[in-house]
Amino acid sequence: MASASRPHVVIIGSGFGGLFSAQALADADVDITIVGKVTYHLFQPLLYQVATGILSPGEIAPATREVLKRQKNVKVIMSEATDINLAAQTVTAEALSHETVLHYDYLIIAAGAGQSYFGNDHFSVFAPGMKTVDDALELRARIFGSFEVAELTSDPEERKRLLTFVVVGAGPTGVEMAGQIAELSRTTLRSEFRNIDPTQTRVILLDGADKVLGAFGDRLSRSAQKTLEEAGVEVKLGALVTDLDGNSVTVKYKDGHTERIEAGCKVWAAGVQASPLGKLVGDQCGAEVGRDGRVAVNPDVTLPGNPNVFVVGDMMALNKLPGVAQVAIQTGRYAAAKIKGELPGGTPVTEPFKYHDKGSMAVISRFGAIMKAGKIEATGFPAWVAWLGLHLLYIVGFKNRATTLLHWLIAFLGNGRSERTTTRQQLIGRLAVRQLGPDFKPTIQGTTEPHKIDPRHAPKDAAVAAAADKEQTAAAASAKDEAVTPTEPPQG
Ligand SMILES: Cc1cc2nc3c(=O)[nH]c(=O)nc-3n(C[C@H](O)[C@H](O)[C@H](O)COP(=O)(O)OP(=O)(O)OC[C@H]3O[C@@H](n4cnc5c(N)ncnc54)[C@H](O)[C@@H]3O)c2cc1C
Repeated sequence: MASASRPHVVIIGSGFGGLFSAQALADADVDITIVGKVTYHLFQPLLYQVATGILSPGEIAPATREVLKRQKNVKVIMSEATDINLAAQTVTAEALSHETVLHYDYLIIAAGAGQSYFGNDHFSVFAPGMKTVDDALELRARIFGSFEVAELTSDPEERKRLLTFVVVGAGPTGVEMAGQIAELSRTTLRSEFRNIDPTQTRVILLDGADKVLGAFGDRLSRSAQKTLEEAGVEVKLGALVTDLDGNSVTVKYKDGHTERIEAGCKVWAAGVQASPLGKLVGDQCGAEVGRDGRVAVNPDVTLPGNPNVFVVGDMMALNKLPGVAQVAIQTGRYAAAKIKGELPGGTPVTEPFKYHDKGSMAVISRFGAIMKAGKIEATGFPAWVAWLGLHLLYIVGFKNRATTLLHWLIAFLGNGRSERTTTRQQLIGRLAVRQLGPDFKPTIQGTTEPHKIDPRHAPKDAAVAAAADKEQTAAAASAKDEAVTPTEPPQG
């Protein structure tokens, strides 16, 4: 419960860094407020399974307040931090026209990273990234929708285009997406359509580098590429995307030649950009901010000159640590330990942050994965089993683990996908909101500015219709008056 005398810890973000730092403060004599742009804790590594119909969003994104319901020193608010004032020690946050200003004694900034299109933000309309639940659901609608529209068309060229999927970026996300789309087309969907043959689908994986999953080393990279190609993925390396629109992707290869690939569905899995909050605080305290938006922190993950402000996870730049979940978890926990060390009776933490690399893994196909932990490398089925166990362990909540396991049995043993539901709003929502422009101000009831909605498309509820009718009657009467008045001579 909140107490005026206890230090107030504000945590921005409910991802790996935010949630794990809050949990590590469970036994500390502090009040914690988590400011989360979204109401859930997202397990990003499994987003691709939501996009390809294996898992539901709820399984990988449990409500943050439910996860923390027993931790009485935490309060969760759904709001987007829009400003941080280091001198005044305040965070300003906004949600659906509600503004909140919080004073902090300690601040943990764990707002993560978004997708980077390397200066080509207009690509995002045609090639959604893979960072949020919205992204995954939009991609799910586009992937399954492409097969649906291909079934409708009688034009063979258009059909071919609709059945060509391009994934940009051959890191873990791109590899997993490409592998899953190939599997979907060759197994789950193979006998469901009458006019198209889903097994003829082309899945192309592009990357500017000359290896897939380069961070895993040569041997595992070669193994991953071979498994992908056996699963039906065309891997094109040394391939830089120079243009992208609704119908195609233009690629320039290292040898200088270019290719235009006709493709309907595109997925962007290349490049990340840290939250703009990094630059906001970097500018205030003089910390260096890289082109990727990451802010350089002290060895104890604090901001220069601000020993009570920590930047953790994907947002921070320290010793070239990668943007992975373990870095976020460990820096979040370290920040919590530093804070606890400063509380009365605490043991001060004087050691700098030290990262313990627990290894990394990526799934390539059904029953096929690669894994690297120190000197240990594994491929194929053993790596896949290790992947399965570890991911199950990190999914939050017993209920989610149980249903995830069930959905994996359906997908991996039975070829089925039990989460294929898509809606029209998931498909077109982003585009529609973009067309409404920055002035569109939604509230939980609707919008604060209903007059900005084109009246031809506004819903006609009884009150609005009555008001509109009244307005129309008044306008007609006033028009009638105006028509009469000028001809009337002034009385007098
Ligand atoms: C598709 C995908 C697959 C991945 N696969 C792997 C993998 O296999 N293994 C691995 O180790 N790592 C993987 N990663 C990376 C890993 O997920 C990240 O490194 C990790 O999530 C970083 O944690 P974080 O707390 O820094 O940020 P995040 O987990 O991204 O959390 C940031 C949080 O801040 C919130 N937020 C953002 N801005 C604001 C704001 N202004 N106000 C309030 N809240 C805000 C966000 O909504 C989010 O809840 C993957 C990432 C993606 C996207």
